[in-house]
Amino acid sequence: MRLDLEHTKDTLHQCPRCSKYALVQRDADKFYCLWCHFNRDVSDSGGAISAVTIIAFFIFLLLVVSSASESNSPAPVQPALQEQVVFP
Ligand SMILES: [Zn+2]
Repeated sequence: MRLDLEHTKDTLHQCPRCSKYALVQRDADKFYCLWCHFNRDVSDSGGAISAVTIIAFFIFLLLVVSSASESNSPAPVQPALQEQVVFP
């Protein structure tokens, strides 16, 4: 019981509604204010942010891979074509 109280005191955060240090982290992504009974579940927004980040990362990766393969493969072809056109 005493250990639990100390743990609760240790993890108090400032409440965004009443700005008192009475916000308890009940779970990894759940906050509850002991003062004004403010509830916040940050799992939804956190999941959305991480999903957007993952999608953005994959788009970035695709862009990097496609631009790298585009600049790598036609590069040896273009000078050869230009030399053939300039030669006669
Ligand atoms: Zn509060």
